[in-house]
Amino acid sequence: QPPAEKYEYQAEVSRLMDLIVNSLYSNKEVFLRELISNASDALDKLRYLSVTDPQLLKDAVDLNIRIQTDKDNGIITITDSGIGMTRQELVDCLGTIAQSGTAKFLKAVKESKDAGTDNNLIGQFGVGFYSAFLVSDKVVVSTKSPKSDRQYVWEGEANASSFTIREETNPENLIPRGTRLTLYLKHDEKGFAHPERIQKLVKNYSQFVSFPIYTWQEKGITKEVEVDEDPVEANEANQDEKVEKKKKTKKVVERFWDWELANETQPIWLRNPKEVTTEEYNEFYKKTFNEYSDPLASSHFTTEGEVEFRSVLYVPAVSPMGRDDIINSKTKNIRLYVKRVFISDDFDGELFPRYLSFVKGVVDSNDLPLNVSREILQESRIVRIMRKRLVRKAFDMILGISLSENKGDYETFWENFGKHLKLGCIEDRENHKRLAPLLRFFSSQSEDEMISLDEYVENMKPEQKDIYYIAADSVSSARNAPFLERLLEKDLEVLYLVDPIDEVAIQNLKSYKEKNFVDISKEDLDLGDKNEEKENVIKEAFGKTCDWIKKRLGEKVANVQISNRLSSSPCVLVSGKFGWSANMERLMKAQTV
Ligand code: ADP
Ligand code: MG
Repeated sequence: QPPAEKYEYQAEVSRLMDLIVNSLYSNKEVFLRELISNASDALDKLRYLSVTDPQLLKDAVDLNIRIQTDKDNGIITITDSGIGMTRQELVDCLGTIAQSGTAKFLKAVKESKDAGTDNNLIGQFGVGFYSAFLVSDKVVVSTKSPKSDRQYVWEGEANASSFTIREETNPENLIPRGTRLTLYLKHDEKGFAHPERIQKLVKNYSQFVSFPIYTWQEKGITKEVEVDEDPVEANEANQDEKVEKKKKTKKVVERFWDWELANETQPIWLRNPKEVTTEEYNEFYKKTFNEYSDPLASSHFTTEGEVEFRSVLYVPAVSPMGRDDIINSKTKNIRLYVKRVFISDDFDGELFPRYLSFVKGVVDSNDLPLNVSREILQESRIVRIMRKRLVRKAFDMILGISLSENKGDYETFWENFGKHLKLGCIEDRENHKRLAPLLRFFSSQSEDEMISLDEYVENMKPEQKDIYYIAADSVSSARNAPFLERLLEKDLEVLYLVDPIDEVAIQNLKSYKEKNFVDISKEDLDLGDKNEEKENVIKEAFGKTCDWIKKRLGEKVANVQISNRLSSSPCVLVSGKFGWSANMERLMKAQTV
């Protein structure tokens, strides 16, 4: 037997293992969710690769997951016929942390420690493979990759800083392909090895896994067996007659063990939307995207005609932790399937523009080739059409939230993703009509509650032609701007653009419902109340004063003018019509510093 080689865990893994082993976390059963999801990922990978390399399936093992329990010894084995791991992959995958979920978890642990809060972090994030140690003293992973002719065994124990790898030599343990995990449960956790308990948990956690999952169950079938009713009597009687008369039947239950299917493998997006409940959509969302809270909204649809695909989309209720999604647009938020085969979740604007990258969901197309590559995706006409439809559906979904009876929903949405939509105003001219009604701003008549542009338009004066706005760094500095005086006096509503990106977004929109956006801090503000006669009289009287002030200020100002826009302030500094607004100048300055 070749000797086992010893390896040290990467420092982060050791830290993570410490946290897991010493965790008082009560919801330990999440280990099953993590291990099933790894098995399912491994099957997905195999299925995907086999599209271009059918040889991978030559071992003719069905794609499935089997879970067996030994309650007397407290052992659970989870076997998948997926892609398996080579020796090197074992070292890389089960000794280091490469994946984002776990890194996110460690970050959150640190943050919650700093904040002095302690919550169900493991349950929220899942810590992948290592969650096996929530319930196990020892974990053995025996795995066979189609890339290698050998099978290798990884072995690790809770509270250890190292693991071992050796070759599998016991012929009884050889598998044609895939991975078998054996969990040796901790003394207090042996209850997980009860067949009924595991069956229940699997049902709960595997509802949306698209491969069959079997558990090893004891079953009984009722059989009718013949019995001699009265052997004593039979002895006395004639042998031949006895066969005729005395043989009777009795029902007995015969016990045996067999695999039992635990999940329904029809993916949710293939089902009829009328038959799927909100709870099922929410569960699917949480399990697929490893989310803790329900989404704000979901949308399930099928498109037919030119391009055919099915999709379920979601708007999350929380914005992603600790990372700016607009900048980091590769979010793994959209999972693309072709004819039910998982293809990729690694997109960069192909299926959604980056400002909508917060939308999560699955898309399943029958029109794309199974071996679709990123290059094909970028070039494909089909993908362009899909993208258009997906974007439209996403907007419908967001609009739906804004119309919801529960006003808080849209407030939550706006708080989390309002910035994304404003970015959309800048980047996506084509969708201005869909974006504009979703925007929200404070205004001179609504300083505490944001209003929509529709609400603004509704509130316009009959003679008012434009939508007025002022950009400032806060509601209070907007309120105190002298530009506002005349408009307030005339009871005209003014939007307060207090987020730095607001002004650029509005300038890109230019107008809403044929009403132009007008910056009240620019010169030439026309409030439609010009009285030329009066103005001429005033100009005559004060023209010289203006000239004198201009002379005194020289280059510091472009012009000094008589204005009708103030009521109580004696003068105001305004920007030129074609120049930057004061707010923009402030922004530009902030950027160059
Ligand atoms: P994640 O699944 O998020 O990548 P995990 O800690 O759950 O993180 O797993 C780490 C890695 O170990 C996986 O990415 C995969 O490469 C490998 N792995 C885990 N379980 C299996 C399995 N059953 N079959 C093949 N590879 C696996
Ligand atoms: Mg995993």
